[in-house]
Amino acid sequence: MKARIVFLPGDGIGPEVLDEARLVLNEIERAFGHSFEIVEGEIGVRAITNSGDPLPDTTRDLCMSGDAVMLGAVGGPTGTSYNGRRPEAGLLDLRTLLGNYANLRPVVAPEALAGHSPLRPELIRGVDLLVVRELLGGIYFGKPSDTIDGVARDTEVYSEHEVRRIAVTAFTTARLRRKKVTSVDKANVLESSRMWREVTTEVGKEYPDVELEHQLVDSCAMLLITQPTRYDVMVMENTFGDILSDEAAVLAASLGMLPSASLAGLPGNDSKGKPRKVRGLYEPSHGTAPDIVGTGKANPIGTILSAAFMLQYSFGLVEEANAVNAAVNGVIEAGHRTADIAARGAGFSTTDHLTDLILDRL
Ligand code: NAD
Repeated sequence: MKARIVFLPGDGIGPEVLDEARLVLNEIERAFGHSFEIVEGEIGVRAITNSGDPLPDTTRDLCMSGDAVMLGAVGGPTGTSYNGRRPEAGLLDLRTLLGNYANLRPVVAPEALAGHSPLRPELIRGVDLLVVRELLGGIYFGKPSDTIDGVARDTEVYSEHEVRRIAVTAFTTARLRRKKVTSVDKANVLESSRMWREVTTEVGKEYPDVELEHQLVDSCAMLLITQPTRYDVMVMENTFGDILSDEAAVLAASLGMLPSASLAGLPGNDSKGKPRKVRGLYEPSHGTAPDIVGTGKANPIGTILSAAFMLQYSFGLVEEANAVNAAVNGVIEAGHRTADIAARGAGFSTTDHLTDLILDRL
């Protein structure tokens, strides 16, 4: 197949990890006879510096011309705004432009890394969960959002339509897994959460084979690290998802291990059993990691697994995605480690070297 992929390296370690994903995609092209045209655009601090805009029109047009977008990360080392513009605004605008309302973040605790987590190995052994985060609503997008006369306000807004479509994503993906959905809210306090709970319950009735539980976000934050194996699919609004998915990263040993897919439609197979091709934005779950830029310590696995997500969800290339996942697992099982997942005092592979090992297996 032929596909046009838009690469947005962004800032910090973003370009470093995206370079590694490019090598993996090149190898997939060679091994499976595909043709990927990779074109690059600017976003974040670099885009503000060069054009004054965190998501310039040229990048918008480029993204709309592609079959999928892969992002490194955005955000600067020295502050929250550059020339009066916030780099992260570019990312929020991009998600809106692409209509990516469903953010999927799988968290698996690899057996080989069980001893590396700050949590006891017996707690995290067998963890395999999927955070489904609503990405285009809630307090990150709600208006008004301003500061007037020393009073700052942000607004949590959700429509039933927005809750319904993310709930459908959660139940549909749960059917392909262990058939359990945990819906996370703050229904004892927030009106928006009460509506969230009503709508997810309604949608749940359409999936009688999937178990649904509701949990308050505060107790969920505790249970996520004390009983993580109780979770299968967890669905939640934007801000709760932002926070809990980083907390869940501890279960997988490092933020650097975790991929994400942000989709504008439902993943899975169509009525004829063929994989649907969904417009998507693929990026690691981590940020720009200013503390390790240029040191060779960036773990490329989250980005490489995001590329595998893209192969599967946007191009329907399931075998190719499985090959990438297997190569990554093989390298970890063989004991190779980047700095973030190496035992204290032990040697580690650099970003490039770990990717070479993955390419060898591919
Ligand atoms: P971060 O994810 O960049 O880093 C948190 C910690 O994890 C750091 O110690 C870092 O070294 C480590 N880490 C992250 N990715 C790693 C990798 N691949 N390999 C090894 N270690 C890794 O979060 P932060 O420090 O809170 O934020 C830094 C900047 O990134 C900020 O400007 C923030 O706004 C931005 N950010 C961007 C995104 C995004 O683009 N999607 C997400 C989160 C944060």
